[in-house]
Amino acid sequence: MTEPLPATMQVFERGWLSSNNILFTGTQTALVDSGYLTHAPQTLALVQHALQGRPLDLLVNTHLHSDHCGGNALLQQHYDCRTVIPASEAGKVRDWDEDALSFIATGQQCARFGFDATLSAGQTIRLGDMDWQALGAPGHDPHSLILYCPAERLLISADALWENGFGVIFPELDGESGFAEARATLELIATLDVRLVIPGHGAPFADIGKALATAFSRLDYLAADPVRNAQNAIKVLLKFLLLERQQLALDQVAIVLGGMPLVQESNRRFLQLPMEELAQWAMAQLVRVGAAQVQARLLVNRD
Ligand SMILES: [Zn+2]
Repeated sequence: MTEPLPATMQVFERGWLSSNNILFTGTQTALVDSGYLTHAPQTLALVQHALQGRPLDLLVNTHLHSDHCGGNALLQQHYDCRTVIPASEAGKVRDWDEDALSFIATGQQCARFGFDATLSAGQTIRLGDMDWQALGAPGHDPHSLILYCPAERLLISADALWENGFGVIFPELDGESGFAEARATLELIATLDVRLVIPGHGAPFADIGKALATAFSRLDYLAADPVRNAQNAIKVLLKFLLLERQQLALDQVAIVLGGMPLVQESNRRFLQLPMEELAQWAMAQLVRVGAAQVQARLLVNRD
């Protein structure tokens, strides 16, 4: 990493099945985002090791995708931590409405968790003895927050901005607006004075200008033809499934993809392919970019 983090802050860079986790020490301890369900024991172990016997006081989610909140339940079992979620998700979490949350649509898992408080855009939250502004970051997810610390010029960008892109623009897959919101979010980020970005996935990076240029260019490409966003989403959903299961029988791929309501809906709106053909296309795409390989009758994950 090129730029040092404050002494009260550590980033656990996790990969793609789990989001990064950001641990804060200081007067109170806090964790931002908790990874995917199947990695939850690893998340807990990382937190326990770093806290050296201190309890976790606070758990905060930037947004409630399964790879950002899948460790919440285990952390709550283990610690009596106060949990803070984006305010606009409160009703869904209270009722554990897995249809309204994204877990059923994406075929992803998340253990039920509760919350104690909510965070809205415009509010400030204290993490690692620093003040962080919560900013609304719709586009990838209508309810996502990002966190900005002006004093330290740090940005926790969740899936709104990565070093080389951003998360799938999910609302567009259901025929709702997402490209315009993603653009506004990038424009908002461009107004911030930032020395280091801690993204939801991948290593922290300092060159925010380059990342923003890449993101705007990618957004222009996707928005020019929404079919591209749907194709990207289906590839990402299949890759996520492969990361989770490591391998899939070739003749099961069409069945599992077809079992994801979001894939069905994206296909219905944008691609209109028989599911078998869609599965063949998605597999070929992953193989082409080196994200998977075919071995015998299996599609196998490649990192
Ligand atoms: Zn996300």
